[in-house]
Amino acid sequence: MNILERYHAMEYGPAPEARNEADAWLASRDFSKALFIDGAWKAAASGKTFDTSEPSSGKLLAKVSDAGAADIDTAVAAAAKALPKWSASSGYARAKVLYAIGRAMQRHQRLFAVLESIDNGKPIRESRDIDVPLAIRHFIHHAGWAQTLDRDFPDHKPVGVVGQVIPWNFPLLMLAWKIAPALAAGCTVVLKPAEFTPLTAILFAEICERAGVPKGVVNIVQGGPEAGAAIVNHPGVQKIAFTGSSEVGKIIRKATAGSGKKLSLELGGKSAFIVFEDADLDSAVEGLVDGIWFNQGQVCCAGSRLLVQEGIAEAFIAKVKVRMSRLRVGSPLDKNTDIGPLVDRTQLDRVKGLIAEGAKQGAVCWQPDAAVPTTGYYHLPTLATGVSPANILAQEEVFGPVLATMSFRNTEEAIELANNTRYGLAASVWSENVNLALHVAPQLKAGVVWVNGTNMFDAACGFGGYRESGFGREGGREGMFEYLAAKLPVGPAIKPAAASSAQPVEQADGTAIDRTAKLFIGGKQARPDGNYSLAVATAKGKLAGEVGLGNRKDIRDAVAAARACKAWPDATAYNRSQVLYYFAENLSGRADEFAARLVQLTGVTAKAAREEVEQSIERLFLYAGLADKFEGRVHQPPARVVTLALHEPVGVVGIVAPDNQPLLGFISLVAPALAMGNTVVAVPSERHPLLATDLYQVIEYSDLPAGAINIVTGRSAELAGVLAKHDDVDGLWVFADADTCAKVEADSIGNLKRVWTGNGRTLDWASNEAAGEVFLRRAIEVKNVWVPYGD
Ligand code: NAD
Repeated sequence: MNILERYHAMEYGPAPEARNEADAWLASRDFSKALFIDGAWKAAASGKTFDTSEPSSGKLLAKVSDAGAADIDTAVAAAAKALPKWSASSGYARAKVLYAIGRAMQRHQRLFAVLESIDNGKPIRESRDIDVPLAIRHFIHHAGWAQTLDRDFPDHKPVGVVGQVIPWNFPLLMLAWKIAPALAAGCTVVLKPAEFTPLTAILFAEICERAGVPKGVVNIVQGGPEAGAAIVNHPGVQKIAFTGSSEVGKIIRKATAGSGKKLSLELGGKSAFIVFEDADLDSAVEGLVDGIWFNQGQVCCAGSRLLVQEGIAEAFIAKVKVRMSRLRVGSPLDKNTDIGPLVDRTQLDRVKGLIAEGAKQGAVCWQPDAAVPTTGYYHLPTLATGVSPANILAQEEVFGPVLATMSFRNTEEAIELANNTRYGLAASVWSENVNLALHVAPQLKAGVVWVNGTNMFDAACGFGGYRESGFGREGGREGMFEYLAAKLPVGPAIKPAAASSAQPVEQADGTAIDRTAKLFIGGKQARPDGNYSLAVATAKGKLAGEVGLGNRKDIRDAVAAARACKAWPDATAYNRSQVLYYFAENLSGRADEFAARLVQLTGVTAKAAREEVEQSIERLFLYAGLADKFEGRVHQPPARVVTLALHEPVGVVGIVAPDNQPLLGFISLVAPALAMGNTVVAVPSERHPLLATDLYQVIEYSDLPAGAINIVTGRSAELAGVLAKHDDVDGLWVFADADTCAKVEADSIGNLKRVWTGNGRTLDWASNEAAGEVFLRRAIEVKNVWVPYGD
């Protein structure tokens, strides 16, 4: 046998990780008192426990206290009590605590890794080299944000008591993503780990005790969905941060509607892994292994849809199969293991069920000829070919080691296939042509795009989704905003329209020529579908004119026009800036007319009316100026990679404007949305819509492309409801009465559009705080594009 033959004949020997420390830790704890509340260990008030077992054997690991609503009450009370002191403590004091947590975790790094692998089933290589180091990095990174909070986030305050609910696939890492920014921002926390994987959170609570976290600042309550729901619904919580399935995310969106709670949702995905024919195929195969078989595919951003260019598809799939045959399925505590067990039997059954259904729908499912351990919840890596875009394996998140493959002919088709999903979490693009990769990345509807790489994460770079993958970002600067409340100039409560918009009783005096304003859709004035009109009263109760009474069909037309308008989102920022300057210029040319209209409709003095017009022009100027300045950033994570945090428009944004300061309020909402490249469907003030309809000509003269702004007059509450339920609306801003705001939040779950409401209050639009970055941030999604460099 020569050396080469010997090399090929070599077998892997076992390389077990010692587990004695973890077993000793398990043996020494009383898990029936595992609720960490107000710095003390408590049993559940009900005395109930739940089992956590080892996925590689099914053996029981611990019986863990199972929190109920009463325990959540106690935990929220503890967090509320601790809040004033913690939020008032200096940034430096909080930074020291975060740093101490990170350092203490470093000292127990191996124990964390082994416990995580035992409880979750993930290979020790992953927990040791990825989960735990990244979790530690998160705390150390956020120590810095705690200290620079006042400088970096002026005009913001901590949001308050935060409820956090996390899944089982990255138990410690998700905990770190949640707790580190919350503590840095000055919030206190009630966190519920997932019921399959409670152990590392318990060890983390012990670390908090040792690291000097003040009592009540971090409360960790073990339990299931009931405890999660109790956190979500608790009136003492001001913010909910949830990571988990889109299904539960939607339940939470609905449950928190109208509560005023800030909400971030990190949900599921069906991410595309796109391989162009000029890719380095061997690297792409390695990337794919990491993309879909990392953590047995139980990864929200798993590259579970392989899209490969037709010319190389056969060769690439052949390489993938060879590589799959070499993946080692086995004990998570063996350092050579690539694939461990799934987390639980229920998950194994779900994966099997989805594969069977996919096969029924025409997919050909291939697995390597390998042995799997006879105990535990193991599943072989699976490759599905012949997958049609509608196949369940191409559409549903499997959350298991299953790769669905499809081929594409050209770049446009690759983008179309990649975006053919209700999710939008991540994507990988493989090509040696960086021009091509960076041409494709902005066109993918996904919060994270990795070029020639996959599953790269860092505490400095935001992570989060588009569409039904949720909203909000975790990590970095944008992640900090999720735990901060902007100081907005909140105005009075808005009364429901029925009470505020009395019909005019007296007819007009007959001196003016009768004019009925139509709707403005796709750059043209359009008659309302229903052919009804709405009478508009002057301040004195006389008829000022009539506007079209828009209905569901008009909103649909307006959304279609906004979606069809590509010229505006594709325009350069400089171009958008110029158009908004024209808008301001043209409004300025008709300032007298608008001021007179304000006097007529609202009854303000001529001086006040003139001021509102001037402020509206100034605001347009401001957003014209900011259109090419509110830019993204470049992150330099600790690897040979740059991460471009790009600001992209949200898409089609619905805007329901308030009655107060009807011109300035309308402009203050529409202008930032337009500045960032969104297309808009605006419902102007129901009471004073003529101020918006008078703008049609101003808009027409301002070179805004057709469809960039569409205006539908009518009943605000009704039209807001239609916008909320419309699945092609990406964002919705509503300044209306409290009931309408609550309803649009609840009705937005179809596509999980980004909803921003005033919770029934309006703003003082004349205030400087009613303009600027707070508004621009609502108008964008941050997409993080990771670009590696070096040979
Ligand atoms: P899940 O939604 O079933 O559960 C997540 C958490 O929510 C658990 O702690 C659970 O106890 C709790 N929960 C369940 N029902 C609840 C309710 N009605 N109210 C409040 N809390 C409730 O998800 P899972 O199966 O644990 O995790 C897998 C999912 O998580 C996948 O869809 C995955 O994509 C997603 N995930 C997303 C990210 C991300 O950053 N986007 C990261 C990891 C996992």
